[in-house]
Amino acid sequence: MFRRSTKQSAEAPACPLGNHWLLAMTLSLTLLGAAGGYLWGANAVMQQADEKAAQLARQWSPALSAFFSRHAVLPQALELLPRIQSTPTAASPASANPFLSQLAERFDLDSLYVIRPSGTTVASSTESFIGENYAFRPYFQNAMDGRTTIYAALGSTSSEPGYYVAGPIRADDRIAGVLAIKVRSSSIGELLPPEADSVDWALSDEHGVIFAASRDEWLLQSRHPLSTTTLERLNEERRYPGIDPAVMPTPYQTRPETDAHPLLMLPANYVGVATTPISGTNWRLTFFTSTRTSATFALIYAALGGIIVLAISLTGVVLALREANRSQMLRTAVRDPLTGLFTRLYMKEAIPPLVAMHVRHPDQGFTMVMLDIDHFKRVNDHHGHLAGDRVLAHIGKIVREQIRAGDIPVRYGGEELAVFLPGEGLEEARQCAERIRQAVEKTEIRAGHSMLSVTISAGVAVHRQEESLSAIIGRADRELYCAKQSGRNRVCIEGTADTRPG
Ligand code: GH3
Ligand code: MG
Ligand code: MG
Repeated sequence: MFRRSTKQSAEAPACPLGNHWLLAMTLSLTLLGAAGGYLWGANAVMQQADEKAAQLARQWSPALSAFFSRHAVLPQALELLPRIQSTPTAASPASANPFLSQLAERFDLDSLYVIRPSGTTVASSTESFIGENYAFRPYFQNAMDGRTTIYAALGSTSSEPGYYVAGPIRADDRIAGVLAIKVRSSSIGELLPPEADSVDWALSDEHGVIFAASRDEWLLQSRHPLSTTTLERLNEERRYPGIDPAVMPTPYQTRPETDAHPLLMLPANYVGVATTPISGTNWRLTFFTSTRTSATFALIYAALGGIIVLAISLTGVVLALREANRSQMLRTAVRDPLTGLFTRLYMKEAIPPLVAMHVRHPDQGFTMVMLDIDHFKRVNDHHGHLAGDRVLAHIGKIVREQIRAGDIPVRYGGEELAVFLPGEGLEEARQCAERIRQAVEKTEIRAGHSMLSVTISAGVAVHRQEESLSAIIGRADRELYCAKQSGRNRVCIEGTADTRPG
């Protein structure tokens, strides 16, 4: 008998979702993973920058505070020296210059100088200061009022930014003059961490004006916009002649002052910012840590995120395909995809329990009908195999419609079908076979442009207790042969003549 492999066209696709969908989903998930990885990495890089800035600020603020407070006490201490006390009133005060130079060197000062109550400098470690009048300087005015103050400004003589500390020189219970020191901003720079590519710092006064910084272009710029009143006041004091009221560029401002969203500055433009007050002064130290060098980490995280999600999605896809394949295989092992009937493999699992049951319970037997399409070869020969397949599929459908729940319809061979009827006798099996025969006879099946009609023959046998499955099949087959021999389109039942109504 001619057997063909069962057609796959009627099968469900290997996976419930099409391959295009799977590809699109995997790609989108990978992109999402990459985006997530990027955001995570970028966030980590930004956070790292912020933390580094905060840590530097915490670390260096006490060091600067100690540095400034050492200078803040100097005028009060040096005032006690007789040589200093006598200088403002001396006939030739400039003779104290070498002594002042010696002291400046010893205390690491850029200048140490003595000013008379008129504001004129009469002695100094820096020669160019002598003769200059500093009466306009608030630190001088405060010292004449008996107060020692620290004051950041641009040197009116040196044109160098730095800070001043000045205090009164008292002689005979009155203020005879002022002792002032100047420390240049560059000296502060020597104190702070060595120049690094990714680290910058700025020291700003009480108005936010930078008077010392790791970058020269930031000097006399402001960390915040200056109000006109502040600018006027600074001008009056001649504190920063030629001050540039420009504000620091965006990444160097503190976050709340920045309009740009941090993510828009990424990856290369983000700058970690941390500001801390310097105790003992009203100045602030700010550290800036750039992410320029670490920005690539964000991209590495993006790649990692993408790869991880891709790996997870691919594993998911493989598992889903495997599961779909497995259930597909299971389906085709049990159900014949062309006819929708059970397979012979399934029959070998399902019928032996019926045989066993009959052995245990003599009244619980079963019958079987063996069906075969008449002259099916001709259908194939005249109309093609595709038409033959349509006929087979249609007859499979008729069989499924004509049997009752609990009956087991099987595609036994190429165009041979079988129905097992548990608990039914010969008469019920005959009726079932007859129903199928008649339904097939009445049906016309479309094949291309023509309509086909076929008939079937059937043999019916009852299971005898103790006999094997192949024994009952053999007897049903014999009855089928008998039906064929008797002219086809009929049902033969064991122990009786064939039936052919009409
Ligand atoms: P008979 O009435 O004696 O049964 O004649 P017959 O032509 O039906 O029997 P024969 O055994 O000579 O031929 C059976 C044919 O069934 C041969 C084979 O090509 C065809 N056949 C078996 N399985 C399939 C199938 O899945 N599809 C199609 N189209 N044809 C099938
Ligand atoms: Mg046949
Ligand atoms: Mg046959």
